[in-house]
Amino acid sequence: MTKPGKAGPLLPIVTALLLGAVIMDVVRRAALGRAPAAASAPEATPAPGSSALLPSGVPGVSASGGGDGARSGKATAGGPVSATDSARRVEVRERIRLESAGTYLVDMLAGGDSMLRRWPDERARTPLKVAVVRQPVEGFREDFVANVVWAVGRWNGAQLPVQMDIGSDTTRADVVVTWVARLDSNRTGRADVTWDSGGNIRRVGVNLATHTPDGRLVVGSQMVAVALHELGHALGLGHSRERADALYPETAATELTERDRRTARLLYTLPPGSFR
Ligand SMILES: [Zn+2]
Repeated sequence: MTKPGKAGPLLPIVTALLLGAVIMDVVRRAALGRAPAAASAPEATPAPGSSALLPSGVPGVSASGGGDGARSGKATAGGPVSATDSARRVEVRERIRLESAGTYLVDMLAGGDSMLRRWPDERARTPLKVAVVRQPVEGFREDFVANVVWAVGRWNGAQLPVQMDIGSDTTRADVVVTWVARLDSNRTGRADVTWDSGGNIRRVGVNLATHTPDGRLVVGSQMVAVALHELGHALGLGHSRERADALYPETAATELTERDRRTARLLYTLPPGSFR
């Protein structure tokens, strides 16, 4: 109902409320350390976002190392580093040096990325909510959902402090898994990871393709491999250089290796954030 007599006094109030909402949004984005227009930075950001792809003519699942689609929050803004933080960074570097044997933590940080990104410690108490969205996408099959559930189960069995719970509610999901018929840039999967300035992962979107880059339908073992790989990125992992690992860019792994599990466990014992 419109009451003309009240339109005048209401207008400034509505304007003030709208202005307030805009300011809140800006503050929220700043708090998340996230630029309003999050930039996609293929290649420039080697970890943890990424992609798995299936080059043509390769029977197993594979992926090619090309562009990773990490969408990120900004790294630590360039303010001065406190003495405490400086000491923390030295300690983290020393721990990586001493404890990274049998992992690919150093590999995944190669290329100048000096920030550890992972879900914050408090998520050890509340499992990550993974929403798997069934979609009427060309080539989609119900068993792809089972493939993702299986991959989630493998990571849940890796003795990490964070666990993942599968559901279909996307409203409060931490990780949202969706399908598309095809992905660009020769990929079959991608994970868009958003983190704050402290390296804490806040949200992840995983996109899985129902077709290989050369147009063939993805089979179950391929979907498992791509899901294992992208969920590894969703947990904060970057790429391994070992072909057997699930986080190898051209992965065909349908099971995690001990290196995958060890790398993830080490990541979750180190504090997130920049260490340079
Ligand atoms: Zn990847």
